[in-house]
Parts: sequence; structure tokens; C-alpha cells
Amino acid sequence: MSIDRSTGLRMIEDATCPGCGLLCDDLTLVVEGGRIVETRGGCDRGQVWFEGRDDHSGGPTILGRSASLDDALGRAAELLASAKAPAVWGLAGSSIEAQRVAVSIADRIGAVVGIEGADPAGLRAFQRVGEVSATFGEVKDRADLIVYDAVDSSPIPERFRERFADEAVGRFVPEGRTGRTIVWLGCSDDPHARSSDFALKVPKDRQVAFYAVVRALVNGIAFEQEPVLRSTGLPLASLVEFAERLKRAKYGALVLGRSADSSAESEAKLTLVRDLNAHTRFVAIHVGGLANGSGAKAVLTWQAGAAGDIDFGGGYPAHCPRDGVRERLQRGEIDLALIVSNGDWPGDATPTIPCILIHDDHDPSPIAGLVEVTFPTARLGIDEGGTVTRTDGVMLPLRPPFLGRKTTQVEVLLGIEARLKDRSR
Ligand code: SF4
Repeated sequence: MSIDRSTGLRMIEDATCPGCGLLCDDLTLVVEGGRIVETRGGCDRGQVWFEGRDDHSGGPTILGRSASLDDALGRAAELLASAKAPAVWGLAGSSIEAQRVAVSIADRIGAVVGIEGADPAGLRAFQRVGEVSATFGEVKDRADLIVYDAVDSSPIPERFRERFADEAVGRFVPEGRTGRTIVWLGCSDDPHARSSDFALKVPKDRQVAFYAVVRALVNGIAFEQEPVLRSTGLPLASLVEFAERLKRAKYGALVLGRSADSSAESEAKLTLVRDLNAHTRFVAIHVGGLANGSGAKAVLTWQAGAAGDIDFGGGYPAHCPRDGVRERLQRGEIDLALIVSNGDWPGDATPTIPCILIHDDHDPSPIAGLVEVTFPTARLGIDEGGTVTRTDGVMLPLRPPFLGRKTTQVEVLLGIEARLKDRSR
């Protein structure tokens, strides 16, 4: 922290933005009194995250009525202890410190746990074929070929392109943009496609075929023109050119900006990258997503053994892909939900069960009216600190300017956990 001599305002340097999974850690927050009045270095979304917030805070409620923190914690613990089939949902907008307590509570009460915004298809593919990956810093320093798997308009954050790709000057790419070839794979007339060196319009429903054919070409398999056109919608010559570009790179990176529609699609991409390593160094990296979804997966992996849906109901953690919170809700098998973060409910399901909601008090939850106990908490990166994990696995500290002014998610979760422990003595 420093003080601007001309204005006397407080400056928080190298602040980490939890606006999305890119977690830019190079922002400067200008603070006046209890407000952030300027955000330097972030995108519009980051600016809204930090500046579009009031600093008022409501307190906890039970059935919509104001309650003391102690009463609300007691009621939440009572509900959780008596639930027969509870769920813990959300987590992707919370710090690692909050996530680990939430998973510990799930373990204690035998709940099924699900991560908001998780990519189950991607996880299944990862478990089957693995992934050759790298940090964003390595891509910035070494990649002379960047392939954006974008499909539709702009799932790739502009700040990723600015900080780690396109124009970014890397240790072994000192020329920046002129030292890199940019390839855009998308199905729309995106301006990014026009500014790239090579673009292919790959239809969303032909993704698996496209990546499978390119992989086969990389592995030296020859094709007839007609079946390739029929299965991918693209002429064989453009796929051959694309495959040759991939092989010619000194260091290539496939940038994945969205969750795959199926594990087959995800697997087709990861196996292409894997096979390219027989010719050159090639990596796959993921960008975007929710602020700390990667952290939630890491916490579940180290506390329960797998990153996807986990069921603690049997007294031990069981990985339950395709039978998680979403599916059980649809079958009416959940009787209580502890929702941690902003409270987006899985899918289109409408909760008709009691919920306990722990969320920052700025985004009214779409299910707020159905909540039995609610805990408005501090906002990540503004008045709640902790650690978050970027999508490339790099852990970053938050630098909140107003630490200590509001009840945090960690405090609420620890309070609930302590009361659960008391009840079981
Ligand atoms: S790209 Fe994401 S993390 Fe970076 S400033 Fe924008 S919202 Fe924040």
C-alpha cells in the first residue's frame, strides 16, 4: 500500500481481481475513505467488481427476519445436523480458506458437494487422457503459436491476450506480436478472427470431428477430401495447412476458453495436444470461468480425492460423476442445501427445499426468497482476503483494502462448524 502524494489517497498495488478465473494480479485500487474510487489496469468487468459496490451490509436473517449472528449460526447448524440428505453447493466464488471449511462441514454432515461452473465433461476427459499444460507465464515467455479455441464471440478474456499472449513480450519472444502466430478457431465473424494470422470457422457441432481429423493428420494419416468435408464442414486443404502450422511451431499453446459440450470433445482437444508433443512442445491451457473454480477443485481433490461431485453420505468421500447435486435435486433426493458464494442454483432447478445461503451482500441471490438462513458476508478481494487459484494452478493472495470491516465467509463457516462439533459432543 502507498499514499498518492498529490491527492493523499490510499493506493493498493498488485491487487488481485476475483472478477473471473484469470485473477489478474496487477491492478491498482485507489481508495478514498471506505470506497474504491478507481481501479487501474483491469477490464470493465474488473472495474464493476471493485467499484460497483456499496459498503453497506445487512446482517443475517432467519426466514427473512433480522437475527443475531449467533442465532443464525445456531439455526444453520441445527438444520444441517438434522438434514437426512444435505448438499453443499457453490464454492467457486470463495477463497481456498472458505472452501476447505465448507468441504469439512460436508464431510461432517454426510453431504454431497458440487462446484458451481464445474466442467464435468472436461474432468472426465482429463481423468482418461491427462493433459499437457503450462503456466500462463511459460506461455508468455515461450509460445510462438497461440491457437484460440473460441467457437463463439469472446470467451477469451482480453486481458489474457494483453498480459500473456498476442502483444505480450516474452523472454524467448522479445518481438511480442510479430514473434507470434495467432490462430482463431471460431464459428462467428468475430473481429478477433479478422485480426489473427489464420482463422478457421469450426462449427460448434463439428468440434469432435475437426480435432480428431487434425490429430490424425498430425500423426501422418492421409484422408480423402469428401469425407473430411462432410464430417468437419471444412476443406481438407485448410485442415492440412492447420496441422502443418501446429507441427512447425517451436512452442504452441491451445487456449481453451469454455467448457466442452462433451467429454469426447474435450478428449479430442487434449489428445491432439498430447500427440503434438511428438513433433514440438505444445500445451493446453484454460482461461476464464469463475474466480476460484480451480481452487475449489484443488480443495476437493486434496480433502476428498477427486475434483468432481463428491458424496460424503456413506461416511467416506465417494466420487459420484453424473449423480451429483444437480441430478439428485432433479430426483428430489436433497432435503437441505448449504449454498456458499453467490447462490446460483444448479441448472434450471427451482429449489423447494430449505437453503442456507452464505454470500456477499451485493448480488442479491436469485433464490433469496427461499432461504431459511442467510449470511451476507464480505466481498472477495474487497473486504475478504485469502488465497485463490488461477486456472493454470498458480496460487495468488488477495489484497483487500478493507479487511475486518464485515463478517467473512470463513468466519461464518467456522462458526457453523464449531456449533456442529458442539452438537456432536
Ligand atoms: S480479466 Fe477477469 S480477473 Fe482480469 S480484470 Fe477482468 S474480470 Fe478481473
